Amino acid sequence: MPAAVAKEDVSVWEERRAELLLYNTLSRTKEAFTTVEPGVVRFYSCGPTVYDYAHIGNFRAFLTYDVIKRWLLCRGYDIKHVMNLTDIDDKIIRKVRELGCSLDELTNKYADAFFADLDLLNVIPAQQYPRATEHIKEIEETVGGLVKRGYAYERDGSTYFSVAKFESYGRLAQLEKREKGSRTAAAEATEGENIDSDDYDKADMRDFALWKSYKTNDAGIFWDSPLGKGRPGWHIECTCMAIKYLGPELDIHGGGIDLVFPHHENELAQSEALTGRPFSRFWVHNGFVNINNEKMSKSLGNFQTLRDIAKKPDDARAFRYLVVSSQYRSALAFTDQSLKSARSTVKRLDALRKRLESAGGDGGEEDIAEVIAKAKENFARGMDDDFNTPRAAAAMFSVVNAAEKMLKAKKMNEKAAGSCLKCLDDMDRVFGIFYNPVIPGTTSASASEPPAEAPLHLVKLLDERKTARKAKDFARADEIRDQVSAEGFAIVDTPQGPKLEPLES
Ligand SMILES: [Zn+2]
Repeated sequence: MPAAVAKEDVSVWEERRAELLLYNTLSRTKEAFTTVEPGVVRFYSCGPTVYDYAHIGNFRAFLTYDVIKRWLLCRGYDIKHVMNLTDIDDKIIRKVRELGCSLDELTNKYADAFFADLDLLNVIPAQQYPRATEHIKEIEETVGGLVKRGYAYERDGSTYFSVAKFESYGRLAQLEKREKGSRTAAAEATEGENIDSDDYDKADMRDFALWKSYKTNDAGIFWDSPLGKGRPGWHIECTCMAIKYLGPELDIHGGGIDLVFPHHENELAQSEALTGRPFSRFWVHNGFVNINNEKMSKSLGNFQTLRDIAKKPDDARAFRYLVVSSQYRSALAFTDQSLKSARSTVKRLDALRKRLESAGGDGGEEDIAEVIAKAKENFARGMDDDFNTPRAAAAMFSVVNAAEKMLKAKKMNEKAAGSCLKCLDDMDRVFGIFYNPVIPGTTSASASEPPAEAPLHLVKLLDERKTARKAKDFARADEIRDQVSAEGFAIVDTPQGPKLEPLES
């Protein structure tokens, strides 16, 4: 059992007696939040697959967990949070094969990048980030337990979970309500996954692999196991990690909405089949990030990484504010404009703080005290209503607006300004936007200037490359690419045409 994150000083939010309502995907309603052990929240959330930079849709999920944790801390809970890192799966093996690197080289690089990005976004770390490859023994035991209980079977060296044996399968995703019926919906949904061809040997199309037997194109990656030479499936790693570190009953299990089926449905089935106890009291899912009304995803190719959009420290803060001030279950429309507007909000807040720090007008104490009391009540009510951060942000801005007016009229003395600053700090325990981000690869905020622009002679080469390609002179086009890369830039093809980007060091 991990040690909990240090408890917040809850006095600023007083002991909240009101109910905290939390939307539970399992019941499709808001329910009063309760925990198995009073005062302690066992929180498991699905982490990244470390084979590439996470995109901002992924970071929306990680920021959602952060806001939830922050408000629970404000309410005086101890939080035990575990997030797995998926460091073995089909996509990872494919990339190892393509790059000719080792599994560790690939996954360590992107795990490091992930942690740097979490830091950049001021996310409170989980207590544990267990990796699948470091828990092969435990995973074998978990799979063995399912076989022993009659929920899993072996076929041609792989082990599958038998969906038919778990009677309530489909209740999280509400498969029976899906138009086409559970069998087809389940089969269709798993088609999106990278199913190895011999996965079709399973007894029932709905069954899923717990342990996958070794194939010749698996780049030599396997474990010798009592289950056979092979590697774990994805779903079982979460069941194994959650139970190992948090026990058989979680209070909250979180993830993006796209994980409800099949991943969370399968986790739930495996875990409850194994322990006979309810796996998680609450299932919490955040909405997508949309770009041009389309879900941002790796498979659609319309994704942006945090490194694409946060080249300057304040961009990271703006992105954080944009995400944490949006209702977590709604789709978030990400545009240049929405990021720009978040950036100006953050600037406005910074400017206000500066003016408050040097305020020296007259009076204002009583007026601002009244505004602050009302705002804090609204803020807390918003947060207690399924983490309604837009309402909490509106409460914060009622204080911001009042303070700006009073400062302009020079009707704010030092004490009034002090209570305003304190109120902003108290609210920032949830929003977490007042911090100094450090762009990965730099040592301090001030050193993190945007990358150098490509010199003109390289930009001109782009045109020459275009002409060469048109004339099918690929040798010349390749030569240009090499020359550009020798000078530290990469040619990146975008819908607007080729662009030069600095190579990563
Ligand atoms: Zn998971």
